[in-house]
Amino acid sequence: MGKSSKDKRDAYYRLAKEQGWRARSAFKLLQLDEEFNLFENVTRVVDLCAAPGSWSQVLSRVLIKNEKFGRCAWEDREAQFRQRMLNLIPSASSQEDSQQETKQDVEMANTQDETTARPDVKIVSIDLQPISPLPGVITLRADITHPATVPLLLKALDPSYDPETSTNQQAQHPVDLVISDGAPDVTGLHDLDIYVQSQLLFAALNLALCVLKPGGKFVAKIFRGRNVDLLYAQLKVFFEKVHVAKPRSSRASSVEAFIVCINFQPPEGFKASLEEPLGVGSRLAELQEQQQDPISQSEPSKADDDGITEVILEDLSGSDNKNRWIAPFIACGDLSAFDSDASYKLAAGHVSLPPVQPPTAPPYKRAIELRRQNGGAYGKPVVAK
Ligand code: SAM
Repeated sequence: MGKSSKDKRDAYYRLAKEQGWRARSAFKLLQLDEEFNLFENVTRVVDLCAAPGSWSQVLSRVLIKNEKFGRCAWEDREAQFRQRMLNLIPSASSQEDSQQETKQDVEMANTQDETTARPDVKIVSIDLQPISPLPGVITLRADITHPATVPLLLKALDPSYDPETSTNQQAQHPVDLVISDGAPDVTGLHDLDIYVQSQLLFAALNLALCVLKPGGKFVAKIFRGRNVDLLYAQLKVFFEKVHVAKPRSSRASSVEAFIVCINFQPPEGFKASLEEPLGVGSRLAELQEQQQDPISQSEPSKADDDGITEVILEDLSGSDNKNRWIAPFIACGDLSAFDSDASYKLAAGHVSLPPVQPPTAPPYKRAIELRRQNGGAYGKPVVAK
């Protein structure tokens, strides 16, 4: 599929390039923030599974550069874009602006000095893939499922942190907000994709429990499987409020949604650990029993019991309805915003912009190189050594 047909099919893809975002996902975080005011009173943030870095760009622009992306600013930008997209050929200057902005991001990161950074704000972004530099963002190449990632992250937030000696609560739980947009490479096998994505979600949750301060927030992508209400019930053990949100920029046709968990309140005596994470064994069922009645605000769900999430949520004592809870569902993003499932007419002579941030080291890079070396798609097949 050519670039311009993707432009036509996906307004957010095009809008992201116009505004200099590395991925269209930036709009999902902006629309979540519009609804939940995620960045209020936040100075320590961790962005998990962050490459290529559009969510980190949002953090950097909002928290470091103090840019406003409230409803008004968003509507202004969108109205301008709608005008250009539906009536006009994009002006050369708009293309140059967005290219310039990306270049600036990288340059500012490289030459970052005390005047550009807000010293009270710390943003750490983690991914298996490298992330190109962003102003005020510390990037780590690490696996969020690995226990060694937690001390690495705490050290990045506070260089004086020493895992051997730092025992106080504040040093170990300094983070106000953990966000995770984790997704494995999609196989196309629906149940498998949901299963692997849930494993990543659990990894993100376990990591968040290790570093969040009381009152903190956790936002993560989920794929809504059949028994997702078990997951909501689990989250309700730790957070005062749990919502499931669908930003308008997330395709309605996709099972993707985001859990937004507010006011972290770990049960008394709970000790988070990546060595002994939730999602394995019976730790969570015990915790739920210890709680008085954390999930009593709503009727139990009637969801059936044979979903793949049973395997994932093995912590819960069976598929008993008392362990289920339906989180309030909120659609967010302005209703006048672009429909991410619609195709839009492009002006004749429309010029497609190049991506803001080409993948730094895509997993398929080596395969492409090998194929090129051997005469392309019709050359003889090669196997990597
Ligand atoms: N939020 C990002 C943005 O706005 O640019 C997009 C994230 S992308 C949808 C999902 C990312 O999850 C990929 O970059 C992938 O490398 C990362 N990922 C998958 N498994 C991971 C793991 N175990 N540890 C760290 N990152 C992981």
